[in-house]
Amino acid sequence: MPSKSELIEKLEQMASMLELTGANRFKVNAYAKAARAIKGASIDVLEHAGDPKKLEEIDGVGKSIAEKIAEYAHSGTFDEFEELRAEVPDGLIRVMSIPGLGPKTVRLMWTDLKIETVDDLKKAIDDGSLEDLPRMGKKTIANIKDAIEFSEKSGERTPIGRAMPLAEELVEDLREVKGVKQIAYAGSLRRGAETIGDIDILISTSDSKAAHEAFAGHEGVEKILVSGETKSSVRMKLGRRQIQVDLRTVDHNAFGAALMYFTGSKEHNVRLRERALKKGLTLNEYGLFPEDDEDTPPQQRGVKPVACDTEEKIYNALDLQWVPPELREDRGELKGELPDLIELDDIRAELHAHTTASDGAMSIRELAEHAKHRGFHTIAVTDHSKSSVIANGLDEKRLRKHIEAVRAANEEVKGITILAGSEVDILADGTLDYDDELLAELDIVVASPHTGLSQDPKKATSRLIKAIEHPLVHIIGHPTGRIVGKREGLSPDIGAIAEAAAEHSVALEINANWRRLDLRDLHVAIALEAGASIAIDCDVHAASDYDQVRYGVLTGRRGGLTAPSCVNTWTAAKLQKWLKSKR
Ligand SMILES: [Zn+2]
Ligand SMILES: [Zn+2]
Repeated sequence: MPSKSELIEKLEQMASMLELTGANRFKVNAYAKAARAIKGASIDVLEHAGDPKKLEEIDGVGKSIAEKIAEYAHSGTFDEFEELRAEVPDGLIRVMSIPGLGPKTVRLMWTDLKIETVDDLKKAIDDGSLEDLPRMGKKTIANIKDAIEFSEKSGERTPIGRAMPLAEELVEDLREVKGVKQIAYAGSLRRGAETIGDIDILISTSDSKAAHEAFAGHEGVEKILVSGETKSSVRMKLGRRQIQVDLRTVDHNAFGAALMYFTGSKEHNVRLRERALKKGLTLNEYGLFPEDDEDTPPQQRGVKPVACDTEEKIYNALDLQWVPPELREDRGELKGELPDLIELDDIRAELHAHTTASDGAMSIRELAEHAKHRGFHTIAVTDHSKSSVIANGLDEKRLRKHIEAVRAANEEVKGITILAGSEVDILADGTLDYDDELLAELDIVVASPHTGLSQDPKKATSRLIKAIEHPLVHIIGHPTGRIVGKREGLSPDIGAIAEAAAEHSVALEINANWRRLDLRDLHVAIALEAGASIAIDCDVHAASDYDQVRYGVLTGRRGGLTAPSCVNTWTAAKLQKWLKSKR
């Protein structure tokens, strides 16, 4: 089915392919701008696809783009896209996704060196021919080589933000099939891991055949790998990639045991089995059984299980409390009391958001209305600072005017507090991008690294600590600057960062955007150990970004985060008290 996100992706891909094939700047920009405009549009463009006048009211959508939207809504694609797609080799699209390689450079590689795949590019690096291209210094080439290696290492896995919506859609659709009693996704997805291998779905039903037929016939299935009545495997379309999805029928009475087994992690399950054996029990995907010496598995001999239908009963029979899936990583979760993990509903404030003043898609008022709608008591407007030129960062003069605009909006919009803030760049040496006098005028300062992200760990550590020690800073935004599967980012000494953050009452951010998820789960655990507070922010650029908060919460839970340690859960009064303590 046509979707807004696929449309945006196609428009973005159009812009890169046009640039790659040497189209004029004007046309490239029109597509890039349209993608941004649709992302931020307050109306659902697909709903109005038949009404070009309405579409053209969106700033950034002209007559020609409106036609493409109509075509896409009707057929799931548009001619110009398909024509261009046929012209550009598949491998080149992958080359373009390597960080640090823009369409201009890739075009030169293609036209001058006949590079059409990542393998071609690797050869050109090895035989030195890449150096013949303009502006291709040794350092740039080394960076490209690094990026290829990194993306190859992580390329097989799918980011959670892509896998989760698909899994949820499948679960919802299959639940409607006749005879289905229970259905759930398991695996690393259920554990909230940042990247996913395959999607595993478990089902109990009185009509297994119907469920597996519906699954194999589901929209988006591109290849059937295994087709059966109790287990099927398919490859499904997911954006520009594919993902394997497995569906298994399990016994209704042993659903809990199967869910536990297929949720993993493997290491967690090993610990559980060890524990079962010590109690004279044996645990498998069919249940927890009394241990005996027989070779045939107990479920095949009609042995009555000690527990099998729910996870709770199995954990309890092992004298354990139920372990939330996010903690099932064999990091000590079977020893001692478990933390009372943060929940999605605990989040009451968004403290990192951009407006049209820098690279966001919404006005201050729109941003605030959306936050209010989510039940938040506070929204912080934190546009980029002047060094972030590409993101249209604000110079001092523009920021002063922007502060006034935020104050005016705060008077006008009732029912929510709008904070005037900034996402100020932490420059390579750890200094900030505005002077203290201006920073002191802001209610909230999020300081983030955006450049110099291949700095050595020692420099990165002192850079971040310098920002933490700055008396006007509240939050360190996406502290390492990593991009999942694409950029490693800084590798500072997280222990030292966490200690400094705790000492100076600075919160470390989990950037909830699934492309970032930075801090990572293990970093969160280290930060909590040191006594630092955590912020979970969506880094809102468009209205839909508010939905990302779930990935931030999952990451926090994997790190053992509780609500009191997360500043976004605090009451308005408590939050204000902390913010003012730094003014
Ligand atoms: Zn940022
Ligand atoms: Zn940001």
